[in-house]
Amino acid sequence: MGPPGVGKGTQGQRLSAAYDVPVIASGDMFRRVRVEESPRAREIQAYMDRGDMVPDEMTIEMVLDRLKKPDARGGFILDGFPRTIAQAVALDADLANQERPIEHVVLLQAPADVILARLAGRRVCDSCSKVYNVDSNPARVDGVCDVCGGNVIQRTDEAPEVQRRRLEVYEEQTAAVASYYRSSGRLTVVDATLALDAVQAELHQLLGAAVAR
Ligand code: AMP
Repeated sequence: MGPPGVGKGTQGQRLSAAYDVPVIASGDMFRRVRVEESPRAREIQAYMDRGDMVPDEMTIEMVLDRLKKPDARGGFILDGFPRTIAQAVALDADLANQERPIEHVVLLQAPADVILARLAGRRVCDSCSKVYNVDSNPARVDGVCDVCGGNVIQRTDEAPEVQRRRLEVYEEQTAAVASYYRSSGRLTVVDATLALDAVQAELHQLLGAAVAR
């Protein structure tokens, strides 16, 4: 968990490679749907372009279905979901039924000025979704993805006014989700102003201990 631009995508992708579990990122799933030609795709696109959240019913169904796919059987990393209390409650209920509850929630925290600066530099591969940053984590060849050779671009929902709106929406709704997990003893807060590698080391320490159990 954490505000847009705090580094969730990058850290999640690295953990995914280290633990061989998929990253399930609701934003990436919506970006794939929004390019389809359908009323549902147009509706999703409208929410995203404003920086608003897609309604809970659509989001919950999409993510819970994805978690049932075979590649997520041995574990998964969620990125960008849950973002509302309703989503967190639905996720807990569904996973309790499957006897594989959410064990750890990591909240990456950083002040707004750090986040806005990172968002301005953020780029993403339009093919495989690998995340880059022009300042801290650039592609080896400008504009070309290191992994798949796709185009490295700035997301269309990352215009400055949309970024500010996304941060507001985060503060309004998602901060409450952190309290939900804190009150059930599952939340660890990590300082995301540290360098990428230092944050990654903290996450490994936390998850390594859990995997060894
Ligand atoms: P992200 O890539 O996680 O920043 O998500 C991009 C956009 O997708 C968000 O601004 C929302 O419009 C939508 N979205 C992603 N995840 C969710 C979610 N869990 N609930 C509602 N909307 C979401």
